[in-house]
Amino acid sequence: MELVTYPHPALLEKTRAVDSFDAELRARVAEMFRIMREFKGVGLAAPQVAWPVRLLVVNPTGEPAADEVLVNPVIKRKRGRVAGEEGCLSFPGIFVQVERAKEIEVEYFDLDGKKHAETRTDFPARVIQHEVDHLESILLVHRMSPADRVRVKRDLQALVQKGA
Ligand SMILES: [Zn+2]
Repeated sequence: MELVTYPHPALLEKTRAVDSFDAELRARVAEMFRIMREFKGVGLAAPQVAWPVRLLVVNPTGEPAADEVLVNPVIKRKRGRVAGEEGCLSFPGIFVQVERAKEIEVEYFDLDGKKHAETRTDFPARVIQHEVDHLESILLVHRMSPADRVRVKRDLQALVQKGA
């Protein structure tokens, strides 16, 4: 597995639900955590490693105990709005303001196939909303404000050139 960056087509591929909770799934998730740490990220969605499934790994604090895997996540409720700075491992060096819900209720399965329903607030909620966007092929370029779009235009062009 390798991290892919914008404008790699894998970032726009349609994702499918995970349906088997087996050793291969665990091995792939371990590899995703390795890549997330290598690039010092707080979250990574499967499409970012060219794997078109509905799965994400997050660690909003950097503490090993905060590692979490969300399989087939669904955001059931959103409350409040808050703007904040966001980056993305698939857009290295680019940071933009994105409006997100302040609090979310998210349902997901863990690696044992057990269902969870949890509430997340502030930064952890932002990380999950960003990663769930990836499962719908929604990227930073789709969320940024017109002002940010102008501000980061050259950086985006550089990424496109690099990927071409
Ligand atoms: Zn991202």
